[in-house]
Amino acid sequence: MRTIDMSGKTALVLGVANQRSLAWAISESLGEAGCRLAFTYQGERLQENVTRLAAKYPDAPIMACDVTSDEQMDGVFQRLDREWGRLDFMVHSIAFARRADLEGEFRKTSRDGWHTALDISAYSLVALSHRAAKLMEKTGGSILAMSFVASQRVFPNYNVMGSAKAALEHAVRQLAWELGPRGIRVNCISAGPVSTLSARGISGFTGMYTHARKHSPLQRNIEPREVGDTALFLCSDLGSGITGTIIYVDAGYHVMGM
Ligand code: NAD
Repeated sequence: MRTIDMSGKTALVLGVANQRSLAWAISESLGEAGCRLAFTYQGERLQENVTRLAAKYPDAPIMACDVTSDEQMDGVFQRLDREWGRLDFMVHSIAFARRADLEGEFRKTSRDGWHTALDISAYSLVALSHRAAKLMEKTGGSILAMSFVASQRVFPNYNVMGSAKAALEHAVRQLAWELGPRGIRVNCISAGPVSTLSARGISGFTGMYTHARKHSPLQRNIEPREVGDTALFLCSDLGSGITGTIIYVDAGYHVMGM
């Protein structure tokens, strides 16, 4: 039972692929607190999964949104404007890099691979925030993105996704400054490793997962629920003084030197 009451609030969640998605854990925390939810899916392949999961929230709009398409991004916010006329929260839980760019030598990253990873994983936050801000202006809002500590430190095989996360975290700060005067907060959760569809695409992910468990101050991996609950706190009024911040939900791993 959540003690934060989000009834009357609305949230757009981008990035649910399946039940293991961090976006789904965030949806569960926001939904249990009474928040109305809207979901997007990337491509027909994931439509069925998202529709099945979102059936728990019967009046939730479910929309196609591949973030490489400006038209699909526009379509999402046009529909939310029609159905809700406002938006309180947006959760950006999207990342992609080609498999070949998540293993081997970083210096061999192709121009196209670089563009793809940074376009989908970082530029999309900028483009979506621009659109979301128009629906958040009346009452203020909160935007959340998802990062990993490889934005600042070296993780073998994380390669171009580390560059994308560094860009994403910068975008969070820049957007926080720009949207702050409109009452819109922009923050980022930097999560410890969780076994999701995307994570399993990183070569050596299991080693990363085990290393985090052994070397974190809490001596364990995180639960997706902990990411969800931090998102709930950040979106709620309890987080009203926080913007432009990267909050680590990683069992403390980021403080370690060895
Ligand atoms: P996931 O595979 O469940 O979610 C990734 C999502 O990105 C999917 O829903 C996928 O459809 C979406 N996506 C990819 N390309 C897209 C595109 N072109 N248009 C729209 N959507 C697209 O994996 P996840 O681990 O839940 O990842 C969510 C976020 O959390 C990502 O930003 C990821 O980098 C971040 N993160 C994950 C971990 C982890 O260990 N799992 C740790 C830290 C941060």
